[in-house]
Amino acid sequence: MAFGDKNIQRGDKGSDVVALQLKLNGFRGTVWDGDFGPGSELQVMAFQREVMKLTTPSGVFDANCFDALHEFETNHPIDFASVRCPCGQCNGFGQGRFKNKYRTGMPKIEAYHRREYPGVHKAILYAFRATCFHLKNHDFPLPILTSGYRCWIHNEMKGRRSTNHMGKAIDIDFPAQPGELKRDDGERCDRARDLLVDKAGFQIGWHGNNRKALEPASIAPTWLHMDVRCYSQKYLADIFFVTDETQL
Ligand SMILES: [Zn+2]
Ligand SMILES: [Zn+2]
Repeated sequence: MAFGDKNIQRGDKGSDVVALQLKLNGFRGTVWDGDFGPGSELQVMAFQREVMKLTTPSGVFDANCFDALHEFETNHPIDFASVRCPCGQCNGFGQGRFKNKYRTGMPKIEAYHRREYPGVHKAILYAFRATCFHLKNHDFPLPILTSGYRCWIHNEMKGRRSTNHMGKAIDIDFPAQPGELKRDDGERCDRARDLLVDKAGFQIGWHGNNRKALEPASIAPTWLHMDVRCYSQKYLADIFFVTDETQL
């Protein structure tokens, strides 16, 4: 049976559950382990409450929910032109280099894993979609995706060594508003981070394992950087990386 053919609910297991856990990643969020437990149920209830405006959410993902999810996704398209690497030399998503290679002299953790992943992780793109929804609902201007994939060629062009944007991260920004000071921009980003912690289950910084992260204001004062670098390898498997919108 295809995704959408049957209800998904507490106790279910399998690939449909993985797909749903990812699609709802910007509503609270849980690990995409294919096991529908209390965390997944809270995700569904958040979606039912916030998107479907149900006053008594059931936690069961039924036919009405699939319809609402389809409409939600249609209303929040992702422009992959802004997701692709701008180096002009790779195919938009690196060249698959440096798997299991780490930055010299650094611990062998994901933050220093030099791999060019084969696309951008679904979890971060779904989180971006929900982020646009949450921000709009709280009177923020619509953000734009300013940075997606950045391969090693692009890194070298820019004198950068960060591995974050090789499929595990995006940056978003708010267009400058008329008459606004840099301080206003910074304060708005602070408020946006707080909202996303509350609504989408982000952590600020990278202290917790298997949670999506926002860079703190000390690093990203006037933009929002979100990434999945705290996840263990099984949640960063190749199947989770996509190169165009039809794969979402
Ligand atoms: Zn490139
Ligand atoms: Zn970034």
